[in-house]
Amino acid sequence: MTNELNPSKRLLMGPGPSDVHPRVLRAMTTPLLGHLDPEFLTLMNETKDLLKVVYQTENKLTIPMSGTGSAGMETVFVNLVEPGDKVIVGVNGLFGERMVDVAERCGAEVIQVTAPWGEIIEPASIEEALLQNPGTKLVAVVHAETSTGVMQPLKELSDIVHKHDALIVCDMVTAIGGIPTEIDKNEIDAAYSGTQKCLSAPPGLAPVTFNDRALKVIFNRKTKVQSWYLDLSMIQNYWNDERFYHHTAPITNVYSLREALRVIVEEGLENVFARHKQYGVALHAGLEAMGLKLLVKKEHRLFQLTSVLIPEGIDDVAVRKQLLSKYGLEIGGGLGALKGKVWRVGLMGYNATQTNVTQFLAALEDVLR
Ligand code: PLP
Repeated sequence: MTNELNPSKRLLMGPGPSDVHPRVLRAMTTPLLGHLDPEFLTLMNETKDLLKVVYQTENKLTIPMSGTGSAGMETVFVNLVEPGDKVIVGVNGLFGERMVDVAERCGAEVIQVTAPWGEIIEPASIEEALLQNPGTKLVAVVHAETSTGVMQPLKELSDIVHKHDALIVCDMVTAIGGIPTEIDKNEIDAAYSGTQKCLSAPPGLAPVTFNDRALKVIFNRKTKVQSWYLDLSMIQNYWNDERFYHHTAPITNVYSLREALRVIVEEGLENVFARHKQYGVALHAGLEAMGLKLLVKKEHRLFQLTSVLIPEGIDDVAVRKQLLSKYGLEIGGGLGALKGKVWRVGLMGYNATQTNVTQFLAALEDVLR
């Protein structure tokens, strides 16, 4: 007989998933409602309203798509892009690269604006690309690049993109619930995120938001959206008052998201951001005090995800294995160009605490000794 499930206790301090808040876990053990039960429909409306607060937007089309963050990415691209459209993507890490792939699969003519991994995409480089590619429909960047730990500033970029009559799209998978996304203030036309990072819920939903400018583009499409599952023109009729069946909502994940958002709104968005900053800065200081170097320069560092350069002569995998076996503590290795060069340490949502910073620094010090 296969054993009953009994996973080891872990402290998930990698690039995600991060630990789920106990209240969220509790919400997930409550009984299922039917996906068209009036009680569930009320929970859906509440989830949308909470999501708008956390995304800092009034956008009516703010809903969680079924699927992980990558489903959110595909949702944005398949609905906004038609074959032959010019799309500029800022690539300074793995998730920029993924956006290029997704946009190309939509038939876009993709122009890449690159920067070294660990640096931001300079707004001037995007402007240059817009000038060289008149008629560009959309510019996409990653707000919180989880593969490097870079925080991309948005407002100046957004102003430039709009001056050239294009849409700005942001990957906010690791940003949401960790740093201000300010969708409305930054005039971001469309964004997507995930639930398993700073929202402290399990993976499985991808909150997306679209403003009126983006909706107009979707409304004026000449071709059918190539994905049936991710076609917003149909899905929104389940999330709005029409309540047309599209696919069976992942009920338990909606419960989890609703509770995760309630936890954040209860603490207060500004307090949540301040907590991430406080303990992110404490982690950076602690690592530097140990003589370690960080990949990203101070002014562009994320607080919720830190890339630490692996010192010369230290075995990347051995250190991570020991942290896991001795302390039950998970951190991430480097991806792509940074494989074997950095460790990625997350302090996301529920996990952004002084205790975790102290515990991690002590464990790392021990393992490196
Ligand atoms: N974008 C960013 C910035 C991410 O960090 C991730 C996941 O780590 C994704 C997209 C893809 O999300 P998922 O793995 O949930 O599909």
